[in-house]
Amino acid sequence: LDGKERFMHTSMCEDVCKTKKVKELKTIDANSVTVQDLEILLETTMYHGFPIVSDDQLNIVIGYVSRNDLIRALKCARDKHIDLVNASRVYFTDGLMRSNAGGGPISVSLGKVVNHDPICIEPKTPLAHTIDMFTKLGVSQVLITNRGKLKGIITRKDVLRHIDYLKTTDNGHNLF
Ligand code: ATP
Repeated sequence: LDGKERFMHTSMCEDVCKTKKVKELKTIDANSVTVQDLEILLETTMYHGFPIVSDDQLNIVIGYVSRNDLIRALKCARDKHIDLVNASRVYFTDGLMRSNAGGGPISVSLGKVVNHDPICIEPKTPLAHTIDMFTKLGVSQVLITNRGKLKGIITRKDVLRHIDYLKTTDNGHNLF
């Protein structure tokens, strides 16, 4: 994906998702996530990042956090706030610390490490446009959304894998 050749095939973003091995998305629900939830998510997955959604059911995208930023931010919060516990709620809005006015465990805000405007594209976006985004904006992943609702994620490598797949099918000629 170096932008030197123009991609000519009619594939769309949703076609890339269809050829992916794992389709289930691992997201962070901004309305209910705890420190422990995030630590388990990091231990049990190896993805480079996670979409943050406003509600597990509605799946409205409110941001994206990279794996490395999340690891660093959680470690920093654990080191800095000794009263942070597994059940502490994590918020992704800006601001440092929320009070524990209700008497429960303290909460922490990790809003500073979140990309609040991740690049989102529609499922029917031509793959050629998506490739342009990867090459011109230098991003590693884009989110696929429909009216704000998260439908998928595709990485630079997913696109490369999809191009390889197209090369092996009957439609494989005239890709560029
Ligand atoms: P690699 O791990 O080889 O560098 P990659 O660059 O595609 O692969 P990853 O973030 O590890 O990056 O994604 C691996 C696969 O999982 C890709 O198909 C990607 O679309 C998908 N993926 C990425 N993030 C998530 C997520 N949060 N939930 C579910 N699937 C994801």
